[in-house]
Amino acid sequence: MSRKFRIRSAIYILGIPHMHTQRTASSMISSKPRVRFAPSPTGALHVGGLRTALYNYLFARRQGGTLLLRIEDTDRARYVAGAAEKLAETLAWAGITFDEGPGIGGDHGPYVQSERSDLYRAHAMRLLEEGKAYRCFCTSEELEAARLRQARSQQDSAYDRHCRTLTDEHITERLDQNQPHTIRLLVPLAGELQFRDLIRGDVAIHYDVIDDQVLLKSDGLPTYHLANVVDDHHMEITHVIRGEEWLPSTPKHLLLYEYFGWTPPSFAHLPLLLNADRTKLSKRQGDVAVEDYRAAGYLPEALVNFIALLGWNPGDDRELFSLQELEQSFTLDRVSKAGAVFDIEKLKWFNAQYLRALPPETLAEYCGPFMRSAGFDTADSDRTAAVASAFAAYLTIPSDIVSHLRFLTISQVTFEDEEDIDTVSSYDAQKVLAQFAYLTETLDTWNASSVKDMIKDIQNDTGVKGKKLFMPLRLALTGERHGPDIGLIAELLGRDACLRRIRSQLV
Ligand code: GLU
Repeated sequence: MSRKFRIRSAIYILGIPHMHTQRTASSMISSKPRVRFAPSPTGALHVGGLRTALYNYLFARRQGGTLLLRIEDTDRARYVAGAAEKLAETLAWAGITFDEGPGIGGDHGPYVQSERSDLYRAHAMRLLEEGKAYRCFCTSEELEAARLRQARSQQDSAYDRHCRTLTDEHITERLDQNQPHTIRLLVPLAGELQFRDLIRGDVAIHYDVIDDQVLLKSDGLPTYHLANVVDDHHMEITHVIRGEEWLPSTPKHLLLYEYFGWTPPSFAHLPLLLNADRTKLSKRQGDVAVEDYRAAGYLPEALVNFIALLGWNPGDDRELFSLQELEQSFTLDRVSKAGAVFDIEKLKWFNAQYLRALPPETLAEYCGPFMRSAGFDTADSDRTAAVASAFAAYLTIPSDIVSHLRFLTISQVTFEDEEDIDTVSSYDAQKVLAQFAYLTETLDTWNASSVKDMIKDIQNDTGVKGKKLFMPLRLALTGERHGPDIGLIAELLGRDACLRRIRSQLV
C-alpha cells in the first residue's frame, strides 16, 4: 500500500489513548476560540480556500472568538507578488472580516511569515540542541538519485535518512567547510500517532509513513510545517480548521508540538470539494478561482451561501442563508466527512435568488454595463432600474440581460422554429396581430400601462385570450417565447418598431 494512504481511522470506545500534550475538553470550552486563515500567496483565491476562510470566520463569530489572517509566504519559489493583497481584497468582497492580520494589526504579529524568519530559526536550533532534529547535508542531486532508486524498486519516495546517523566529527567537519544543509525532524521509527479530528473522528498514523521532514531549508527559511506550528502556537490558535489535504501533515505537526512541549490546538479537516464526476475539484472541469465567479457577475451573498453548504448542513431543509444567519447557525459538528460536489447549477440557482431579491437600483448597478452593451440607454436611472427589475426573474447572472434585451437591437424578428411560425400564423393569432396594428395607431400615449389596456381591448374585440393572445404578440415583438410583461416590451421598443414588427407577421 502506498505510504500516503496508510492513514487509518481508529474507533476507541473511551476516546483516544491520552497523549500528554492533549488539550482537555474543559480547557477548550472555557476560552474563546482563536482561529486563523493561513493562505499561501501563490495565486488567486480558490473556492476551497474561500470555504476554509468562511468556516473559520463562522466558527469564530458564532462563539465570539477571534479570526486572524496569516500570510504563509515561506515558499519563495511559488510566491506571486501582489497575491496576498488580492486574496485579502477578495475575502473582503465575500464579506469575511478579520480581527488580526496584515494591515489590521493585533498583539500576535507580524502576520506575514517572511517577517518572522528569526523565530523559526531559533525554534529549529532548539530542536537540534535537544536531539529532536538533525542536520542533513545531502545535496539535491543526491536526494534526486535516491528518489530514482526508490522509484525503480517501486518503493514510495521518502528521505532515506542518510544523515540521521552522521557522527559529531562528520558534522563538525562539514560545518567547518560551510557545507549547505537543511534541518530535518527526527521522526520516531516505530509506533503510531493518534489524534481526534473534530470532523473525522479518531485518526491514527504510523510513524513509519512519516518522512523526516525538512524544517529549515538551506537558505535558512522554514518550511510550511515548522512555520505553521510555531505560529499557531505563538498566535495562540485554539482550532485549526483547514482542508483535508493537510490531514497527512498533521502527525508531523503534532510531533512538533510534543517536541516543543506545547499543547496542540484542536484540528478539523474539511471534506474535499469534488467535480460533478466526484473527482477532486479541478480547473479542467470549470472555474475554481473566486475571482472568476466574481467577474462573471456572481453576487458575494450567493457564492457565500452556496459555499457554506458545501460540506455543512443546517440540519433542516433551509437553503437560503445570509452571512449573519450563517454566523448564528454554523457548528463544526454539522460538517460532513464526505466530499462535497461543487454543483454549478446550484450556484446559478442561488445567484438567481439573490439577484431577484436586490433592490431595483442595486440590480441596475450590476446590470447597467450589460444593458448599455445591449444598446439600452441607461441615462435615466429610474427607467434603467425599472427595466432591470422587470427582467430580474429571468437572470442567472447580470450579463444574461444582454440576451433578454436582444429584441431591442435586432433589426427584424425571424423564426426558424416551425412551432413559432405556426403560433404567429394561426387564424386567431392573425386576428390579434391585425387588431394590435390597428389600435396602435389610435393610441394617444405609448407606455407599458397604455399598451396593457390596449391588449385588454384586443381581447374584448377578438375574443382571443390567455396564451393564444399573448404568445403571438410576444413572438412577433421579440422572437422569444418567454420574457417580462408585454406592455414593458412594447414601451421599450417604441410604437414605430412595434408596428413594423407586428405588420411583418401579418400574412
Ligand atoms: N498555507 C497553507 C495553505 O495554503 C495553510 C494550511 C493550514 O491551514 O495549515 O493552505
